[in-house]
Amino acid sequence: MIKKAIAVMTSGGDSPGMNAAARAVVRTALHEGVDVYGINNGYKGLLKDDIEQLNGRSVSDLIQRGGTFLGTARSSEFKTKEGRQKGYENLKKRGIEGLVIIGGDGSLTGGSLLSKEFGLPIVGLPGTIDNDVWGTDYTIGADTAANTIVEAINKLRDTASAHRRIIIVEVMGHKSGWLAMTTGIAGGAEYILVPEVKYDLDEMCHELREAYDRGKRYSIIVVAEGACDAVGLGKVVGEKTGIDTRVSVLGHIQRGGSPTVEDRMKASMLGEKAALAIISGVTNVVFGFDAGKVVSINLFDAVTNKKTLDPELVRLSRVLA
Ligand code: ATP
Repeated sequence: MIKKAIAVMTSGGDSPGMNAAARAVVRTALHEGVDVYGINNGYKGLLKDDIEQLNGRSVSDLIQRGGTFLGTARSSEFKTKEGRQKGYENLKKRGIEGLVIIGGDGSLTGGSLLSKEFGLPIVGLPGTIDNDVWGTDYTIGADTAANTIVEAINKLRDTASAHRRIIIVEVMGHKSGWLAMTTGIAGGAEYILVPEVKYDLDEMCHELREAYDRGKRYSIIVVAEGACDAVGLGKVVGEKTGIDTRVSVLGHIQRGGSPTVEDRMKASMLGEKAALAIISGVTNVVFGFDAGKVVSINLFDAVTNKKTLDPELVRLSRVLA
């Protein structure tokens, strides 16, 4: 049972809805009569002692904002035991008894080490646009990013159709194809290339050519950045098909923007759960969603298991292409 203070941080890549989650953690803790500290800039800020006490007003005017008011960063020093010791001491000297970490699997792995090595109570929330945290079918920010991508695909379809072009859209996802697969299906893409599934370039080009010969006006190919080099792919597809092919790399626009209602709601629900859990003495859990309900996942399971791409999505994408 925590009596005095907890801290909250965001870490790894930013994702829309992190603010809503941190806001919920802060307001819930204050409601429970527990002090809350914000750690600025992830583990980097933790090691630099960049920590400040928050009040209800610190999180005003935030729920609608993308990014994270706490800032985020990557820290290689935190990957060393000495670094983590320094971080732990910075919490201890303020009487901080538990930490809520909002981030991806790397950030949660860091948290699991703080727990193992120093016995610090840790509760994690999955915050990443990649939707690749094991044990939860939802991560904070993935819905907003997916909506941003689908909006871009809609626009690209207009211009692709006007010029009878193939447009290749590169979306984020080094190791995870969830964003590409989901937005490819929702955006009506003809092909979706993801790191998890092999594709046959010759067959794809042959089918594209045949479709154009039958009168098709345009095609959209969604590519996860980890599946291949989209610019290189564009060149090859253009050469092999003889069809005017353009590449659009969406880049960081996918991370920004006002969170969707789904991200605001779920982030708020998870933030409240996280604060109540850590205050009541629960540790080493990650809260996520399964089939629309909040679930708690063991932190060590969440960081040691790898989430795989749902084969149902892959199957559906082929049926609908
Ligand atoms: P995203 O999915 O958006 O990339 P992430 O949380 O997975 O988010 P990482 O860059 O992997 O992003 O991790 C963020 C930070 O967490 C790292 O900069 C590092 O400080 C810490 N971290 C990551 N992996 C480990 C690890 N194995 N041990 C200790 N700390 C780690």
